[in-house]
Amino acid sequence: MPQNKPKHENATPKYDSGLRVACGVFGIFDHDDAAALTALGLHALQHRGQEAAGIVTFDGKHYHSERRMGLVGDHFTKQVVIDRLKGRYSIGHNRYSTTGDTVARNIQPLFSDLDVGGFALCHNGNLTNALTLRKDLIKKGAIFQSTSDTEVITHLVARSTKRLLVERFIDALLQIEGGYALVGQTNKKLIGARDPLGIRPLVLGELDGSYVLASETCAFDIIGAKFVREIDNGEVVVITKDGLESHRPFPKHAPRPCIFEYIYFARPDSIVGGRSVYDVRKEMGKQLARESHVDADVIVPVPDSGVPAAIGYAQESTIPFELGIIRNHYVGRTFIEPEQQIRALGVRLKHSATRAVIEGKRVIMIDDSIVRGTTSVKLVQMMYDAGAKEVHMRIASPPITHSDFYGIDTPDQEKLLAATHDLKSMCDYIGAGTLAFLSVEGIYRAMGHDSRNAETPQFTDHCFTGDYPTRLRDREGPDMQKQLSLLAEVG
Ligand code: AMP
Repeated sequence: MPQNKPKHENATPKYDSGLRVACGVFGIFDHDDAAALTALGLHALQHRGQEAAGIVTFDGKHYHSERRMGLVGDHFTKQVVIDRLKGRYSIGHNRYSTTGDTVARNIQPLFSDLDVGGFALCHNGNLTNALTLRKDLIKKGAIFQSTSDTEVITHLVARSTKRLLVERFIDALLQIEGGYALVGQTNKKLIGARDPLGIRPLVLGELDGSYVLASETCAFDIIGAKFVREIDNGEVVVITKDGLESHRPFPKHAPRPCIFEYIYFARPDSIVGGRSVYDVRKEMGKQLARESHVDADVIVPVPDSGVPAAIGYAQESTIPFELGIIRNHYVGRTFIEPEQQIRALGVRLKHSATRAVIEGKRVIMIDDSIVRGTTSVKLVQMMYDAGAKEVHMRIASPPITHSDFYGIDTPDQEKLLAATHDLKSMCDYIGAGTLAFLSVEGIYRAMGHDSRNAETPQFTDHCFTGDYPTRLRDREGPDMQKQLSLLAEVG
């Protein structure tokens, strides 16, 4: 095993706000099977969050809400969905969080009784000024029930001086910053909104004449809905019995969707921003092969995240592709385990080597990304244990040097392997013969651009470049540490 463990490994995190949430959202307006379709949509979006799920429906008179810890399929049974979640309007949410704040009060959709009526809201993403706003709201007397930043939005809607709910919602959006895809519901409306840069994804579909909103198109495929279009960056759509109305309350911005949806987060069968996620990942693998060729006998993907890139790498390099690692599908994503020891164990629970493929071979192992390095360390060792002669690690994205604050849930910077190690020490740490990452330019090329334009980058790519596309207000100013500890106390 490598000796030079990173300094940060045993460090106690100074702050875990409980606000870093990456999730899946879904909504359907005016359909006979609204709750069942929502449960199916959430099931297709399960990869976006496995910690908890919730559905809120409206039956013309009453709202119904079921919010559970765990997987959609384990809780949203026929009985729950059909007997309890009545109504033709429905929204739902899958929650993903890595912090200790795994509590029922944080499960979405959040429901509030406003003076204009009931309002249910779910949110994928993360606000970069939620703590600042929250502090201010608390000073003014707001009482928070959860530690989720989504509740900040609800409070802003409740306190807005505008008359109509949609105006109040837009009023709230004009105060928040960060990355968000929101799906909301009232007794007459389904509402969808995407942040001004379109960092988080949101798509519009149609089924039997009813509009559907979802984080990804894979949620439409499962229910047989037709993809209509993406919700634009900065767009608010309001769906009523009269049809769809579009509002654009923000100054016009060029979109800057999150590159990590393409690299890791979205499902490969989804179409994001008009691109097949599968094709993009394969192209990233081809670019990687062009940039960092090494002679080898076999290409082995880290399943499932590295598979499309490894297929691309194998096609470009003409080295045979083999399933040298088998994944046990009955274990959740290792990354979701909050403790480092459990995460490390999780990698062993999840993967095992196919000795027949590996023994005596020079192996190129391919994954989509390195975050803390836990997965790579275990799997490189697993290749050697299975008799590999050489192990070359290839990563189909650049080194992650900066934390994310928009909802993809990377850890604090000090825990990112690439933030504290240069290439050589990363290679030593994971114990591989060689290590190479795809370049930032390579990512842009795989996405169909000649190169990254420094003035007008096409994607939110701060994880690799440090170029954050919005202010990080919660992290600014002398008051920062105080603000950050506020939530730790609440959580
Ligand atoms: P690590 O073991 O910490 O280096 O994490 C890298 C592994 O986690 C890779 O296999 C990735 O596919 C996966 N991964 C990358 N980003 C994320 C994320 N935001 N959430 C969960 N898993 C991730």
